[in-house]
Amino acid sequence: MSAKILSGTVVRDVRIIELIKKFKAILPAPKLAIIRVGNRSDSTAYIGAKMAFAKKVGVTACHIHLDENINQQKIIDEIEKCNRDESIKGIIVQLPLPIGINRDVVINTIDPRKDIDGLTATNIELLTLGRPNAVVPATARGVIELLNFYNIQIKDKKITVVGRSQLVGKPIAQILLNKGAHITVAHSKTIDLVTETRGADIIITAVGKPNLITVDHVSKDQIIIDVGISRDGELDVKTGKNKLVGDVDFDSVEQVLGEGGAITPVPGGVGPMTVLCLFENLADII
Ligand code: NAP
Repeated sequence: MSAKILSGTVVRDVRIIELIKKFKAILPAPKLAIIRVGNRSDSTAYIGAKMAFAKKVGVTACHIHLDENINQQKIIDEIEKCNRDESIKGIIVQLPLPIGINRDVVINTIDPRKDIDGLTATNIELLTLGRPNAVVPATARGVIELLNFYNIQIKDKKITVVGRSQLVGKPIAQILLNKGAHITVAHSKTIDLVTETRGADIIITAVGKPNLITVDHVSKDQIIIDVGISRDGELDVKTGKNKLVGDVDFDSVEQVLGEGGAITPVPGGVGPMTVLCLFENLADII
């Protein structure tokens, strides 16, 4: 038998039903502000997915699109306006911001009670302290909810997280640590990634480099969660765009995993969980 496929699409389609019910019970419909600066095409795709999901679950999303060359104070003014607007329950600043804008200053302008991305210093501190009222960044929450859905134990497991960014790798490592896992965090300066990953029960990779994790990095009964998203050289005939791939050489790695192993696909793994959990964060803080 082959490894189990951990589908985030399946989890999302199950959990969205509950989410729709929750938002339906809130009147007037909650409002979400998505602030975007500039015209990056990847941001267009991510915002499109969030707007479409908002519509499905009954949240009114407003997309505040600011010019690439806007000055930092104007972005701050826009966030403060959203902070004051009581009908707006959640605020997202789409990252990355243009060069020259101080990300931390901008993010920390968001009222922590509306910070559904969990990126303000207040929320990071709450997460670090292991407080139950911390807003867990959506991708980190998505990884946890995916593992929970498929009954994969976290406590006492050896987990290697590859990637240590503020947005993805660190919050994933922190929440798993809070849940009693033994964590190793690998990054670009890690000398022997093969040893760090092969010995783990669970590998979570969040780097953005196709084929970083090959058959050499894995062992038979591992759980592999691929957070990475990149576009490779091959054209997808359906979309006419380059294919989306993760960090794992999926086809080869899937072959070496045994029936005790499991792996997320890209697309259809952590991606749908991230969007779902962003809205679960919104439902929790209302
Ligand atoms: P990032 O800020 O560029 O961080 C990448 C991390 O990978 C850094 O910590 C870096 O180490 C590490 N790294 C780079 N090369 C490495 C190597 N050869 N071996 C081991 N570690 C290496 O990226 P990010 O924002 O965290 O995003 C990571 C990936 O997740 C991207 O592909 C992004 O598109 C994807 N993502 C997916 C979702 C989703 O919903 N699925 C959500 C968010 C992001 P250093 O710290 O040493 O530089």
